[in-house]
Amino acid sequence: MTAHTAHDPAIPAEADPSPCHTAELLVHVARLVHGAASDPSLTPAQWTALRYFASANRFSRTPSAFSEFHATTRGTASQTVKSLIAMGLLARKANEADGRSTLIEVTPAGQAKLAGDPLADLSHCVRAMPANERAMFAGALARLGSELARLRAVPTFGQCGECGHCDREAPGGAFCRCTQSSLNGDDMGSLCIDFAPTPPRIR
Ligand code: SF4
Repeated sequence: MTAHTAHDPAIPAEADPSPCHTAELLVHVARLVHGAASDPSLTPAQWTALRYFASANRFSRTPSAFSEFHATTRGTASQTVKSLIAMGLLARKANEADGRSTLIEVTPAGQAKLAGDPLADLSHCVRAMPANERAMFAGALARLGSELARLRAVPTFGQCGECGHCDREAPGGAFCRCTQSSLNGDDMGSLCIDFAPTPPRIR
């Protein structure tokens, strides 16, 4: 059997019909996360939602932002969120920045549930990689995510430290030029739907 491990540079990527082993492996690894989950009480979509709302910032904790993150319809995302609210794992809370809207928060029961997150095994495998290999892998995945999001015309999710909207030199501390908000420590370490990838650095 012939394994296709790399794109033939003689063939333009968009015209190459051969299977890409690396792309297939990425999908395979993602499916393995939930394939033998130790806690099957939640579906993969519910686990993804619970994890998303635990790591998304205050501008992104809405069902519609989750639908973009999970690449699904707003209706499907809304049903997933409602099911987790009914289980007591998520809750709607008033949005302090906008009294007319609500944000989705993970409840203490949801936080406890996340202790059994089936993603933990993959996280362990990633953290076991040598630091330089892990950094290169993270960079490659970020580029892949940005490029695929650009091709599909959907948002790229990321964190403030890597975002083109983040002004770290603002007089009062880090400031988001997109949302016109000061950024606290929680914001800086959270996922954001308004993330704008900065041009890759040339070293
Ligand atoms: S700086 Fe970027 S990632 Fe951070 S809140 Fe603003 S848009 Fe989102």
